[in-house]
Amino acid sequence: MKNNKFFYTPHAKFYANFYITYFCNLACKICLMGCNPKIPKQFLPLEDILFYAKEFEKDECFSKSTVINGGEATSTYFYYSEDYLQTLYSELLKRSCKIELHTNSVWATSNKAEKIWQDLKILADFGNKNTIDLSCDQYHNNLSGLRESFKVLSSPDFVNKKLNINLLSFTNDPVVNNVIKEIKNYYPNLNITYAIEGEIIKTGTAKKYGLGVKVPFFEYHNEYCGIYYWSDEKLAISFHPDRTACIGTFYNPKRRVSYVNKDNKLKPWEQLYPELMENYIKSFKKDGCDLLELADIKEFLIPKKFR
Ligand code: SF4
Repeated sequence: MKNNKFFYTPHAKFYANFYITYFCNLACKICLMGCNPKIPKQFLPLEDILFYAKEFEKDECFSKSTVINGGEATSTYFYYSEDYLQTLYSELLKRSCKIELHTNSVWATSNKAEKIWQDLKILADFGNKNTIDLSCDQYHNNLSGLRESFKVLSSPDFVNKKLNINLLSFTNDPVVNNVIKEIKNYYPNLNITYAIEGEIIKTGTAKKYGLGVKVPFFEYHNEYCGIYYWSDEKLAISFHPDRTACIGTFYNPKRRVSYVNKDNKLKPWEQLYPELMENYIKSFKKDGCDLLELADIKEFLIPKKFR
């Protein structure tokens, strides 16, 4: 494989982005992925994630950052396995990975909350490396879950544990502005940061509802920023519940490749990466994206001798 002219080793630093499921208990009008409760309850197999976490260990470009994403990742507790996230946290931390969990926190008022908090303590007790991202804006119908989360996250189990807590929202969102005031008044010892994005991007459900701003070739946006703005930025390698993978955060299944071989075995990283790369470049050419130059992409993604 290494002598093949199509063999590309990762060149840029990368992080692993695991879309655990596209099922979600909410149906926000701004959802980038178009997630909602009607979507089939399909989950990214845990053993697939652990396989690639092990594969990535061999690659020095792997930044050890891992994002647990969705849909709503905690749906696993309700519709798949109560041990899924607990095992995932423990196994990733064992490999010195830094975990970032995205959640809407609706579960915080459910009958599974105690178990979910218990598992989240694994992240909190691990020191300064892990992050929990809580979505908060006028489109997420999740205020009771958020309030319950603030209460628990400011309790002795979590406070001073150096778990990064981020509130994700948009500029001038009326809900987040009130929530920020509430936190100051009622949870003064909650150490929270506010990650306020500029605009809602018009894709997925947002596009259907005519919300947000159109960013040309949104799916190439990360790479664009990686190349031109964030010189130390890492590239996402995303894994999807339909057992496909892609470079970047491509929501379009056409721009992904299966990470399973015909014999049902998972593709080793050194096989998968060149396939991802070739598919990325093919899609890029077909999409006629003028946000980036092919030469720039190659420089960013492919070592010199293989360009
Ligand atoms: S934006 Fe988040 S919480 Fe809302 S539907 Fe999408 S995945 Fe679910």
